[in-house]
Amino acid sequence: MSKALFLDRDGTIIRDKKYLSDPEGVQLMPGAADGLREALKHGYKLFLHTNQSGVGRGWFGIETVHACNHRMLDLLDLPDPGFTEICIAPESPDEPAVYRKPSPRFINEMIAQHGLDSEHCYMAGDRDSDLLSALNAGITPILVKPLSELTEEEKELVQLHQIAVRENLKDLAARLP
Ligand SMILES: [Mg+2]
Repeated sequence: MSKALFLDRDGTIIRDKKYLSDPEGVQLMPGAADGLREALKHGYKLFLHTNQSGVGRGWFGIETVHACNHRMLDLLDLPDPGFTEICIAPESPDEPAVYRKPSPRFINEMIAQHGLDSEHCYMAGDRDSDLLSALNAGITPILVKPLSELTEEEKELVQLHQIAVRENLKDLAARLP
């Protein structure tokens, strides 16, 4: 059975520009490329799970999200297989959530389709919705954020569920089991 790392996009792999719709605005977070390479080297399958409510709100189309993802993938320049699957959740918050985090649906589907070992699956993100999607799916959440930037709500969630906090993806990969 495979081990896997699920990843949020905005604020985790690339800078969170709030409703990014210009591929030229894609900027990698420090340590992102190194961290993802390291995870691949250690046999982790990578899955991207990104909420993009700008689509559901009618602010930009899904093709804009694809264009930004392509730019991110170009900049990351990961060795094969790169990301195994990419899930874009386009729903706005007032629509019924299908794949929108904290829904565990994408993670659950990937565990079933790719024969992943949920004991060795991690969801890394910078928001509580990332952490909750992991908890809802029964896998291990990891908060990727400098400790000094944690909100009170995040501190409580981290304490309550004993969630690991990592400075960035390089730090995360270096400490993956
Ligand atoms: Mg994020």
